[in-house]
Amino acid sequence: MKPIQPDLNSPLIQDLIALREVSWFNPAAGSLAQALPHVGLDKHNVADAEARLQRFAPYLSRVFPATRATGGIIESELVAIDAMHKEMNRLSSQSLLGTLWLKKDSHLPVSGSIKARGGIYEVLTHAEKLALEAGLLNESDDYTRLDSPALRAFFAGYRIAVGSTGNLGLSIGIMSAQLGFEVTVHMSADAREWKKRKLREHGVKVVEYAQDYGVAVEQGRLAAQADPRCFFIDDENSRTLFLGYATAAQRLRRQFVEQNITVDEQHPLFVYLPCGVGGGPGGVAFGLKLAFGDHVHCFFAEPTHSPCMLLGVYSGLHDGIAVQDIGIDNRTAADGLAVGRPSGFVGRAMERMITGYYTLSDEHLFALLNTLYRSEGIALEPSALAGMAGPWITTANTQWQEHFTQRQWQNATHLVWATGGGMVPEAEMANYLARAAQAASVFW
Ligand SMILES: *Cc1c(COP(=O)(O)O)cnc(C)c1O
Repeated sequence: MKPIQPDLNSPLIQDLIALREVSWFNPAAGSLAQALPHVGLDKHNVADAEARLQRFAPYLSRVFPATRATGGIIESELVAIDAMHKEMNRLSSQSLLGTLWLKKDSHLPVSGSIKARGGIYEVLTHAEKLALEAGLLNESDDYTRLDSPALRAFFAGYRIAVGSTGNLGLSIGIMSAQLGFEVTVHMSADAREWKKRKLREHGVKVVEYAQDYGVAVEQGRLAAQADPRCFFIDDENSRTLFLGYATAAQRLRRQFVEQNITVDEQHPLFVYLPCGVGGGPGGVAFGLKLAFGDHVHCFFAEPTHSPCMLLGVYSGLHDGIAVQDIGIDNRTAADGLAVGRPSGFVGRAMERMITGYYTLSDEHLFALLNTLYRSEGIALEPSALAGMAGPWITTANTQWQEHFTQRQWQNATHLVWATGGGMVPEAEMANYLARAAQAASVFW
């Protein structure tokens, strides 16, 4: 079926084509009760995922020493970024009420990005299924037994494949290789050299493409289809990846308790998530909705050159349209977000749960990196900054402002989800920071 073109004359589509920064509040966003039936998953699925990660915790703690402090649970810090808050207020001449926090998935152990949630979870799910079916494992076992020559030899008889712009490949490659699988990562042209190098050091097979993410995924899918012992991890459609991401929410809820952060009607929570194909931000947002109901409001952030989810949801065409179909090139320094066609599963499942979407230029991603680095000393990869402008962009919308009382804004928690950068090599980070220092400092 040939995709229908959206109304190219609509002002929003015109702005997207012109690569102008836009924001859009979805009129179809509704209450949790209205939205939940459209997802096809519920709190029981997320609870299953949490239990599975708990079963694997002793194993992860054993094979990845960086997870020992948290008992094998791969989790990130939640930090207040007051200096950034002040500096952004100064630069924007807007005074954001409430408090500003950073969720540092950028520094998750094992693979240094949000993909350490979904990617690792899906590999573990597959490994568990194979081992249970073969009678080599029981759910009540101590899973450290997976770290044995016999189990590694068993997994070596199976293959895993994935297409990626870099970080998903890194997570899946490292986890799969650790278990013993033969793993192939199909990398898009955007993927950074150091990510490929790191994977090869882990014994992962890396196949490089001159084209973008969509092509890398398609080639990975085709290669896996020809091989019955090969499991293809489908970033565009996977419910398993999605559930891995969703487990972030209950843990965040515990971190909020530790920090004395209340979320209720009078204390709304606003979360700003960088979006590529949609699985990461979609899964996290789903978990957050289950955990905090109608008191949490999620926004997706994309580069002006890759606004695939905004285009898919706004046009209603979802994965039936790619940014290239309206002449956008999908070329951005935010390699983790360089996706031209959104996940149809996530777009359809989550459209009623996501309050709004906005886009940012690469120049502004770098400007935000500069401001964050100078104010807080935190260095991230460009993709991870997309959420940072969210509090100021969204509260500039008068209707959104009026949706809440002054009191609610004063009590608000703004949470920016930092999605990657913790493992970027020093020289590469120095390049990012140098470019960031050149970016326009006052941008509103
Ligand atoms: C993958 C990624 C995202 C977005 O996740 P999707 O599942 O592709 O939407 C955001 N930031 C970084 C750094 C990523 O690697």
